[in-house]
Amino acid sequence: MLCRAGCGACCIAPSISSAIPGMPAGKPAGERCVQLGLDNLCMIFGRPERPAVCSAFQADQAFCGSDNAEAVRILTWLEGETRSQGAANSIS
Ligand code: SF4
Ligand code: SF4
Repeated sequence: MLCRAGCGACCIAPSISSAIPGMPAGKPAGERCVQLGLDNLCMIFGRPERPAVCSAFQADQAFCGSDNAEAVRILTWLEGETRSQGAANSIS
């Protein structure tokens, strides 16, 4: 599927362990990435400082659901599942 531009769920719901400009220790789950613009688009898209994990994440119905709220629900649930399995984070 194509990413719903302006969704931003994968930049809010999951934790990201990689350093992000402005978030050198990564991003906690449920916290908005500081690089996510008010239009819910990545402000460093295509730039080398964008974490590799962000570039690698591909929109998929299984993660993104059918609307933005469903994406947040799925990604939040996956974050919890991953944590309960002892992994560091859900998408990296
Ligand atoms: S959760 Fe999916 S649809 Fe939403 S911004 Fe991320 S990749 Fe795009
Ligand atoms: S760096 Fe960009 S793509 Fe990665 S979480 Fe932040 S806003 Fe999203």
